[in-house]
Amino acid sequence: MKILIIEDEVHLAEGLRFNLEADGHDAVIAETGELGLEKASEGGLAVIILDVMLPGIDGFEVARKLRDRGDYTPILMLTALGRPEDVIKGFEAGTDDYLPKPFDLSVFMARINGLIRRAAWAKIPAPSPVPSDVTEVNGRRIDFQNLELASGNEVVRLTLMEIKLLRFLIENEGRVVSRKQILEDVWGLQEDTDTRAIDNFIVRLRKYLEDEPNDPKILKTVRGIGYRFDRV
Ligand code: CA
Repeated sequence: MKILIIEDEVHLAEGLRFNLEADGHDAVIAETGELGLEKASEGGLAVIILDVMLPGIDGFEVARKLRDRGDYTPILMLTALGRPEDVIKGFEAGTDDYLPKPFDLSVFMARINGLIRRAAWAKIPAPSPVPSDVTEVNGRRIDFQNLELASGNEVVRLTLMEIKLLRFLIENEGRVVSRKQILEDVWGLQEDTDTRAIDNFIVRLRKYLEDEPNDPKILKTVRGIGYRFDRV
């Protein structure tokens, strides 16, 4: 399993490759998003490291294209200074984790290994069903470990971030959670930011869970505050 680095800053990309290889990983570099997509289509990737600012199509577009074609390789996004709007946009595009530039190498390695571990967990069938990792909401079965939501015969694959947000809401069942709380607890963002981007995630979760997403019964908006999850 290889790690793909999509990064146009050659020195940074080479430095990352060197350190990944020193840590026992196989790494390849693509200097543009287009080349990255080409390399990714060959398969066999453990993780994709994705810079946001690229010549040609940007990192968000790359993530979106990968997810659209059914490639769920974990993506670690590299954002300039971790601007909250970039982070949220990245998660919307389907990335799994982010690291603001400049970053500490040990933190980078920890993130990479974390993503590889989580991806491995998702693939290993649990030896016995772990009840706490599967829950049912409105007739839909949510499998937190396999990032799947099953409704009848239809199975939807969720992103790590969708699962994280869903888990957070379920854990806070019956309580109103603010957008700020979601931003801090789910995304690990401290800054005050335009939190309306979270609404897009909520819209997607409603499509998964609600019988009538436009008239939500489970995932309600609490005007001016945030959201409340209630199993009906
Ligand atoms: Ca760049």
